[in-house]
Amino acid sequence: MQKIVLLVAALAISPWHARAQAPAPSTQRANTRFEQLGPILPTPNTFRTASGAPGKDYFQNRADYDIKATLDDINQKITASETIIYHNNSTDVLPFIWLQLDQNLFRPDVIGRTSQTNSISAEQGASLQQINPNGALIGKDYGHKITSVRDQTGKPIKYTINQTMMRIDLPQPVSPGKSVTFSIDWNFKIVDVKSVGARGGYEFFPKDGNYIYEIAQWFPRLCAYNDVNGWQNKQFLGRGEFTLIFGNYKVALTVPSDHIVGATGELQNPAQVLTATQQKRWNEAKGKGDKPGENPVLIVTQAEAEAAEKAGGANGKPTGTKTWIYKADNVRDFSFASSRKFIWDALQPNVEGKRVWAMSLYPKEANPLWGQYSTRLIAHTLTSYSRRTIAYPYPVAYSVHGPVGGMEYPMISFNGARPEPDGTYSVGTKNFLISVVIHEVGHNFFPMIVNSDERQWSWMDEGLNSFLEGLACLEWDANFPAHGIDPQYIVPYMQLDSTRQVPIMSSSDNIPGNTFGPNAYTKPATALNILRETVMGRDLFDYAFKEYARRWAFKSPEPADFFRTLEDASGVDLDWFWKGWFYGVQPVDQSLVKVDWFQTNSQNPEITKGEARAAAQRKLNTISKQRDALSKDETVVAQDSSMRDFYNRYDPYAVTDEDRKKYQDYLASLTAEERVLAEAGTNFYTLSLKNKGGIPMPVIVRMEFEDGTDSVARFPAEIWRFNDASIKKVIATNKKVKQWTLDPFYEIADINTEDNTFPPVAQPTRFQLFKQQQRGGAAGPNPMQQQRQPSPAKQGSGKN
Ligand SMILES: [Zn+2]
Repeated sequence: MQKIVLLVAALAISPWHARAQAPAPSTQRANTRFEQLGPILPTPNTFRTASGAPGKDYFQNRADYDIKATLDDINQKITASETIIYHNNSTDVLPFIWLQLDQNLFRPDVIGRTSQTNSISAEQGASLQQINPNGALIGKDYGHKITSVRDQTGKPIKYTINQTMMRIDLPQPVSPGKSVTFSIDWNFKIVDVKSVGARGGYEFFPKDGNYIYEIAQWFPRLCAYNDVNGWQNKQFLGRGEFTLIFGNYKVALTVPSDHIVGATGELQNPAQVLTATQQKRWNEAKGKGDKPGENPVLIVTQAEAEAAEKAGGANGKPTGTKTWIYKADNVRDFSFASSRKFIWDALQPNVEGKRVWAMSLYPKEANPLWGQYSTRLIAHTLTSYSRRTIAYPYPVAYSVHGPVGGMEYPMISFNGARPEPDGTYSVGTKNFLISVVIHEVGHNFFPMIVNSDERQWSWMDEGLNSFLEGLACLEWDANFPAHGIDPQYIVPYMQLDSTRQVPIMSSSDNIPGNTFGPNAYTKPATALNILRETVMGRDLFDYAFKEYARRWAFKSPEPADFFRTLEDASGVDLDWFWKGWFYGVQPVDQSLVKVDWFQTNSQNPEITKGEARAAAQRKLNTISKQRDALSKDETVVAQDSSMRDFYNRYDPYAVTDEDRKKYQDYLASLTAEERVLAEAGTNFYTLSLKNKGGIPMPVIVRMEFEDGTDSVARFPAEIWRFNDASIKKVIATNKKVKQWTLDPFYEIADINTEDNTFPPVAQPTRFQLFKQQQRGGAAGPNPMQQQRQPSPAKQGSGKN
């Protein structure tokens, strides 16, 4: 009894709730593709708001470092000490803190190594590398050697190393709002990049006996502690990069006295480490007065670098050291490069009203490419990215050439792309240089400034950065093959069986190696380009993307913060897009099944009866009549008029007075607007469309008219919201359409364009009569080299 009363009360105050209590059986299913992400995203809270911005309780901890390190060029070893001040800005008491020991990835016993799988094939054989992928690590004694962890008073602190992570058990827990200071001494053997595959290490040049050092992930670094993961202390497996926190750095690097150094931060003691000539050139590189120079100035020339190589290489090492001191504020990491082989050039472009040092370090082996392009590319990157995100906040940006193919750190990046020993290079090498410098320098913005969790989400820095890289490459050269953002080029990946793809929203270390490139880089980058060009439009997208950078500069966003901000700042519901492109593995495949053509029946008897007569006459001339021996003048009826009556004279298609009256009555029943339409002879085309792939996408269709002109109609993805598999759409046009084409500009990554035309247009499949042999390496043919050969017939062909 009481129950019924309660129910009635509930009905009275909440009819909505009441409806839910008695669901009407329905066979209709809401199209979930356009339902909101809802519980797929984390619940907004006071740390991170529903609009995608940092909330009122957002916090991040901070670590300031004072590091002293010595580079041993004889033994390829770093010996260093650091004092860290760790600031606990959380509301939690922390009894211990975690640090990252990335050099331990080069120990053969860590999970990143022992979890590798491999196999041997009897048919194909197996290389030593396949049989023992970690062979290069055995007996090398690589890894962080921690020699001391002490508190502020010098008392040892207990610590535990778990593979690539180190836990320090604080003597006293660090309270909210408080700091803790401690020091660590360590050393490690620098890895040979080429033999172990690493993001930093050395390269030895046997011809001159010298080394280039690119030193990264080299000091014990604080893990992030935040509102999402607590401690982000997931092991470093080699793939998922670095989840780091901001801080101020003071770093003193002691290196051989003839080395040239570049690092995160500003050099504090040029007078102690640079010659008078180098300092003079340094000042020249700033330009004249307020005007930046146009071309980089060489601070160390190639001749000087070659002289240093000869003096310090196999023929005898220099005596003495120099200490280069750097300061960097608000950075999440610190890295450096050092070598006597370095040529050094510098330019100080104006970036959003502020002068920034753009500088490159490279050996003679990198010329002529590097001297011509590297520093100018840095300046271009800072300008292009600053416009689309926030103004580059740091004073310096380096691009360094050494053994590492492409890796980013704050204010410094290591980039490959080396010409042939004879100074020629393929177009592939040149384009790689352009894209890799833009990409790695561009990483200053994502993740060095917009500090996403790289260990968890590769796409948040690689995808966003690859997108901006593509735009910057096209601003560098309109003909640049920016395939990383072009929808056509993600098609082969999206054509793969869904079991061979993983969603973009997959943790970095769980993405199979062969899909990592598309997954972390090109698919998200292409998706963003599609959002900008096809879904949102440039204005709405650019504003929202910039807003994301503004909100999260020097903070740590999560995927939901990105998804929410883009919608929040644009007013465009994109949940369906995130579902399709970021959470799913289905492709885009639209199909134009057929087009039905309609015209209004004008009811005008002059027209309708005339058309009926023409249609009837077309059927009269049968094949039998054509073959009959008698001509129609020789039939009985033709020859004998007495055999004719009313029906021989009757014309059923003649317009009668009654027809005319009926037509006038019809016209009188129409409004003026209806009358215009009825008389205009408009063509109505009903397009039957299928979404075969899965991801609902905007429908873009080109009409080529009979008169040779054309027109493009665009419909939003929501056109699929009632039926995500099959829809019809009527298009009215005064002109007659002779050809229909879906996605005419290849902008939605449709994996099968053969069913995109109506009437269908056959495309020949071309085959080669004789199979041609493959030529050229990974970087492609090098016609520059061939042009130096005497045979003019072969010039520029790229094949020999
Ligand atoms: Zn990258």
